[in-house]
Amino acid sequence: MPAEKRISDAELAARVVRPAFGEVLTEHMVSVQWSAEQGWHQAEIVPYAPMLIDPAMVGLHYGQVVFEGLKAYRQPDGSVAAFRAVDHARRFQRSATRLAMPEPPVELFLDALAELVAADRRWVPEDDTKSLYLRPILYATDPSLALRPGTRYRLLVLAMVTETFFGEGAPPVSVWASTRYARAARGGTGEAKCAGNYAGGFVAQVEAVEHGCRQVVWLDAAEHTWVEEMGGMNIFFGYGDHLVTPPLSGTLLPGITRSSVLTLATELGMTVEERMLSLAQWRADCASHAMTEAFACGTAAVITPVGHVAAESGEFRIGDGRPGPAAARLRTALVGVQRGRVPDRHGWRHELAGPDPAARTHA
Ligand SMILES: *Cc1c(COP(=O)(O)O)cnc(C)c1O
Repeated sequence: MPAEKRISDAELAARVVRPAFGEVLTEHMVSVQWSAEQGWHQAEIVPYAPMLIDPAMVGLHYGQVVFEGLKAYRQPDGSVAAFRAVDHARRFQRSATRLAMPEPPVELFLDALAELVAADRRWVPEDDTKSLYLRPILYATDPSLALRPGTRYRLLVLAMVTETFFGEGAPPVSVWASTRYARAARGGTGEAKCAGNYAGGFVAQVEAVEHGCRQVVWLDAAEHTWVEEMGGMNIFFGYGDHLVTPPLSGTLLPGITRSSVLTLATELGMTVEERMLSLAQWRADCASHAMTEAFACGTAAVITPVGHVAAESGEFRIGDGRPGPAAARLRTALVGVQRGRVPDRHGWRHELAGPDPAARTHA
């Protein structure tokens, strides 16, 4: 579908000055259908607009919905590259499988991103603090209240302009360790990026805010003892140049930023260790000053230092409560690869559009 210009350049420029996260969507979206008979079909770029849904659809009633979140960055040569797009495509497949949904092929996922970026290229920010956040989502569309997986699905890809929240130099966040609610249990859906996981977490986020904290820290569901994640991000603990992060036990979301931090930290001469840490040990390590910093990481916020922890059992400060050096070094290294400022040693940059706006990378 031709990308007709619906929004003037001036209005576009005004909308993206201070984009609130999730609110500045671009003009187009990708839509693809799946049915048992036809497989993936009817792939198209359509204007971003409200859609008709069947009020009885499976996705709405039974939460058969998975999504992804990745970012595209303008590169120094004018091209546009997504960060670790193939890894996001594979995780999308794993999430779909966990919810008994068809796996979107990696090529379909990548082509959808490229087509959307081609249609909405003028929305890809030039600015160093901004990027284009891409949101693939897959849901069951069958109009049926029968309690079984759908037989028809729709894949959409939306894009929005984002500014890095908790941006560079932002003060560390305070976190609330919830012993009342859990995010994920063994055998559950914690490893999948499925919509219901977030609905189940909102109440703990509200509890965190009531305790004066910005984010919730999730403890394991069985013992309410072991630190697992922070909000929609993975967490790292810094002991000088030694980093510790909880292992992927099956209840954590395997973050692509987490994986990138583990690789980059080693390259920067730090040591890394995947092991469990209890809330009590976290407090003890801060009291003894062995732990010097902590930070969370994820696509949306990149790297966010954590300065203060509160829980029913009391509160404590991490290090001197200021952003730590490991978080700062890792952020610089990570952003460098994402924005094309340093060589890409791991094949993490996936070109979605070439330097010449007139030519497309993917036909
Ligand atoms: C998406 C997500 C993360 C971070 O994953 P990235 O791939 O780094 O963006 C961490 N935890 C949860 C619960 C998430 O949904």
